[in-house]
Amino acid sequence: MNRQETLQHYKENPEVSVLIVGAGVNGVGTFRDLALQGVDVLLVDRGDFCSGASAASSHMVHGGIRYLENGEFRLVREAVQERNHLIQNAPHYVKPLLTVIPVFKWFSGIFNAPLKFIGMLTKPSERGAIIIKIGLIMYDAFTRKQGTVPKHQFKPRGVTLGEFPKINPKIRFTARYYDGAMHTPERICAEMLLDGEAAYKNANALNYVSLERASGNTVTLKEEITGESFVVRPQVLINAAGPWIDFANEKIGFQTQFIGGTKGSHLILNNPELRAAIGENEFFFENKDGRIVLIYPMKDKVMVGTSDLPIENPDDVHCTDAEIDYFFEMVPLVFPNIHLSREQIVFQFSGVRPLPKADVNNPGQISRDHSIRVTEPDDGLDFPIYSLVGGKWTSFRAFSEEVADKSLELLNLSRKVSTRDLAIGGGRDYPKTVVAQEKWRGTLANKTKIPAERIYELFERYGTRSQPIAEYISQGIDTLIKSLPGYSQREIEFIVQKEKVIHLDDFFIRRSMVAKLGQLSSSNLDEIANIIGNYLKWSDIQRNQEIQRTHQVLVEMHGIVLERE
Ligand SMILES: Cc1cc2nc3c(=O)[nH]c(=O)nc-3n(C[C@H](O)[C@H](O)[C@H](O)COP(=O)(O)OP(=O)(O)OC[C@H]3O[C@@H](n4cnc5c(N)ncnc54)[C@H](O)[C@@H]3O)c2cc1C
Repeated sequence: MNRQETLQHYKENPEVSVLIVGAGVNGVGTFRDLALQGVDVLLVDRGDFCSGASAASSHMVHGGIRYLENGEFRLVREAVQERNHLIQNAPHYVKPLLTVIPVFKWFSGIFNAPLKFIGMLTKPSERGAIIIKIGLIMYDAFTRKQGTVPKHQFKPRGVTLGEFPKINPKIRFTARYYDGAMHTPERICAEMLLDGEAAYKNANALNYVSLERASGNTVTLKEEITGESFVVRPQVLINAAGPWIDFANEKIGFQTQFIGGTKGSHLILNNPELRAAIGENEFFFENKDGRIVLIYPMKDKVMVGTSDLPIENPDDVHCTDAEIDYFFEMVPLVFPNIHLSREQIVFQFSGVRPLPKADVNNPGQISRDHSIRVTEPDDGLDFPIYSLVGGKWTSFRAFSEEVADKSLELLNLSRKVSTRDLAIGGGRDYPKTVVAQEKWRGTLANKTKIPAERIYELFERYGTRSQPIAEYISQGIDTLIKSLPGYSQREIEFIVQKEKVIHLDDFFIRRSMVAKLGQLSSSNLDEIANIIGNYLKWSDIQRNQEIQRTHQVLVEMHGIVLERE
């Protein structure tokens, strides 16, 4: 069903077993899981899919080695295992990432860690070689059986300086271990929700539909494009609104205080010297204030982050000048002679971690684990609400499974399919070796008559989803985008048609990496607005409004002013 048909369907049939509010990774993961079990489920988001915390992560698929010092062994074990599943289930988007911890001290931290476990030390403090070694041994132990990534290593100063000539010469060691990198969390979410829709005919996902209010057995939703409201009658409402969970509960008449979110920001820099200095490795280290920060390779750019600051209203989130200063002071701790400047920032983003409300002095101490908070039916509402609090991007599948199981129990249904080893989107039938990938691409090039280099590009961008894209491209006259080589008209049409693009910025910021990698310009904005506008039948006025909207989103949320050409 297309969007209009889906909306019409719910206007005529408002009964739905499960309504999920919020299409971040936890909402989308739960949606896919329930759809696979044959549950009729509606997923809505007031904005685009994966536009909240799930788009603002550090793009690490990780166990969270740092959480060991808060005693979060369960979480780390689960997250390491989920990291391995994601590397296997979404190999087109989640790749093993060699993480380097520069170590400047031998012993600090070893006495602090036990104090932290028993709650006597609340401030972050510098971690020395020994404590990092202990953490990495535990980390390896959690993942031993799966063996998806190699074990950690320690490299002495001489070897480190040989490999990273620009690193701070005060270095004593580097510790190395593997985690996972995902450059496009937004695409993982988009492909996962399409998998959910494909799994069951009564599973539907709608972006730009918000929760308005609820009473009795009825929830009122608002379609944000037309402003029209409609109602649905669920048996359970899953509140997956992330940092907005308490705001969403308030709309349905419940005062909750589940969330005590903290803000984190990141910058993406065009700094070829820094990019060359880090190689294909993430550098993960302590800033002067003891916070763990990162320098991360993102295609030909470098991402730096992150902050951890209390915030009242997640709608106020944006990266401040003070945070930019913080990042610019942190990079020289590891690479003292590399010059950074504000002109090198091509994109910036901020989000709020939906952490559980906690009474602690230091945000780093708040648990990163997840939980389902149940609000039982009462005089005002006939159905329960399951609020999904906390959790890591990495462990969304395990969290979603827990939520789906709880919903199945309520609905008196049983699980039919496990998501543990289930491929996501273009990770399905993904050729595992370089030779197999070449063969796969060769077959597709032969079949579609599309040049091998272009097939390579599509495969890198979409995994095996490049097959339906290439087939669609080959069925008509295609032209490359003049101002954005590497993308073509029919490729963009396919994405718009199949991936629920509503606004221009959905394409630039979430279905593609164009904005994130600083490839957006006024010319390609205009050229692609024409393609998307023709396809979606925008009037000239709508097209101009969409261009304006994209400029505004870029300035307000991502600190980017595009020069008008
Ligand atoms: C700075 C930062 C760094 C992080 N780094 C990592 C990392 O490297 N690795 C990792 O594993 N995890 C990381 N995380 C954690 C992870 O990103 C989040 O825990 C996870 O994405 C939360 O997903 P969610 O689906 O619960 O919330 P969200 O992604 O925020 O989704 C909630 C959705 O609800 C929607 N919504 C809100 N109100 C309404 C309403 N009234 N009606 C309809 N929809 C509504 C919003 O639009 C939003 O899309 C990080 C988080 C942040 C913020």
